[in-house]
Amino acid sequence: MKFDHILIRYGELTLKTKNRMMFVYALRDRMRKALKGFDVDVKANRDRAYIEINEEDPHQVIDKLMNISGILSMSPVVKIEKSDEAMKETVMKFAENIKAGETFKIEVKRADKNYHLDTFGVQQLLGGHVMSHTEHMTVDVKNPDYKIMVEVRQDAIYMYYESIKGLGGLPLGTGGKALLMLSGGIDSPVAGIDVMKRGVEIEAIHFHSPPYTSPQATDKVKKLVDIMSDRTGFDIKLHIVPFTELQTTIYDKVPDNLSMTSTRRIMLRIAEQLAKNVGGEAIVNGENLGQVASQTLTSMYTINEVTSMPVLRPLLTLEKNDIVKMAKKMRTYETSILPFEDCCTIFKPKAPKTKPNLESVKKFENGVDFDSMIEKAIENIEIYTPNHKVEAEEDFSDLL
Ligand code: ATP
Ligand code: MG
Repeated sequence: MKFDHILIRYGELTLKTKNRMMFVYALRDRMRKALKGFDVDVKANRDRAYIEINEEDPHQVIDKLMNISGILSMSPVVKIEKSDEAMKETVMKFAENIKAGETFKIEVKRADKNYHLDTFGVQQLLGGHVMSHTEHMTVDVKNPDYKIMVEVRQDAIYMYYESIKGLGGLPLGTGGKALLMLSGGIDSPVAGIDVMKRGVEIEAIHFHSPPYTSPQATDKVKKLVDIMSDRTGFDIKLHIVPFTELQTTIYDKVPDNLSMTSTRRIMLRIAEQLAKNVGGEAIVNGENLGQVASQTLTSMYTINEVTSMPVLRPLLTLEKNDIVKMAKKMRTYETSILPFEDCCTIFKPKAPKTKPNLESVKKFENGVDFDSMIEKAIENIEIYTPNHKVEAEEDFSDLL
């Protein structure tokens, strides 16, 4: 069976009326970027998109689009001219896949009401044709083993048999920008991709404390950014913050059981500053309610106090199992579980407070000039851009 196009059905963006095309073009742009290197042609219109795949393997193309937000589902299709003969010829190619004894059904959608056969007519024509040219084949309209879909549209007729679920959500770039706190663990990459799914572009911030943290730990975060960028078709810029001075100062000046709280507060202050610098309107992290001492409600309250910027926690109430499943699906899991410690693990207090008191933390922090250290850390941020080539934005003005 040779397919020539992939049919892309849109997700939630179909709820948009006025500015629909802005969402459509954003999605088309993402698909084109994700498919760089493939010999394909992506065309998107108001209701759906078609990707001409030439000699490419349709399932490899679909695989590249699995994490592109805004796609409801995808089908490899055969595009044929609008004639009964062409339909009959093509339906037989689908019929070859039906095994002896299996039941089938022809399902017809007729968007072009002017086609000379109506829905029932096409069904009869093709069902009858298959039956008379094959043996041991029966129709089952309720519960068929094999469903051949036929769509009669204005421009052509499309035939397919499978629909593969896409990521859903909204096209990236239509929801503003946020800064993701990326630790190298399992959770934060998932949190980032989750927010991107709602159309929000992200940049990432990672705190490292050399020589206490190894270069491998930082490389691991870069690798995560590579994977996330590859999966989403969007280049995520990573800001690596030198955190050693702050981390060791906290270690010296703040009591052990409050040091984690202080560490998080300082990280959040830096994240807020950087988010503002890059035009972000929110911070995203991988926190999960009750997972560890720094993620209790009281901890969040005390940590969050340093910022008025929204802190998005998409994984807040999920089960760890489900987060792991999502990480595996996003292909970040294998990298996340590599055994390199990040700065928090190394300076982890023996008994962090699960109910850190805000006033106590503030009291200890007030005695230290964190402001200048924060400023210095921001000045010395190192930037990493993903290690894969993505062409510059194309000019779509001719199509708008
Ligand atoms: P993760 O699996 O994402 O590391 P976790 O369950 O290990 O999460 P913590 O280590 O407590 O949880 O971190 C909570 C969140 O704080 C992380 O999800 C991440 O967003 C942020 N964070 C922690 N450490 C760092 C770091 N070194 N750099 C940037 N962000 C960090
Ligand atoms: Mg962690």
